[in-house]
Amino acid sequence: MSDCLFCKIIEGVIPSSKVFEDEYVYAFRDIAPMAPVHVLVVPKLHIASADEVSAENSAYVARIFEAIPKIAAAEGLTNGYRVITNCGEDACQTVKHLHFHILGGKKLPDEMA
Ligand code: AMP
Ligand code: ZN
Repeated sequence: MSDCLFCKIIEGVIPSSKVFEDEYVYAFRDIAPMAPVHVLVVPKLHIASADEVSAENSAYVARIFEAIPKIAAAEGLTNGYRVITNCGEDACQTVKHLHFHILGGKKLPDEMA
């Protein structure tokens, strides 16, 4: 059994509020939302971070970015949204399984950090 939190969520060992799933991608609501809509989109393959994306696994990332507009539409994000990935220590990545935050449902702060 994987020791990774998001692998366990994908496997269904840890419950989640699923919003989208296909062969490559799993998406679920963040447990501590920072906006009215806060969804995490993850590859069904364990990739530790954006720093580990390669020619061998980038199909998963492409499928994530195909899923994102579908999820945004289903969530009613017609006025825009933000997609973020935190990579490594300086970005405060806390879960070492690649994930993209979709944030929206309000006017988001216009700042980098
Ligand atoms: P990051 O800081 O970019 O690594 O983001 C990790 C995110 O995972 C945070 O926004 C957490 O709130 C979220 N998170 C942690 N545990 C869970 C969980 N069990 N279900 C849903 N989201 C989670
Ligand atoms: Zn994992």
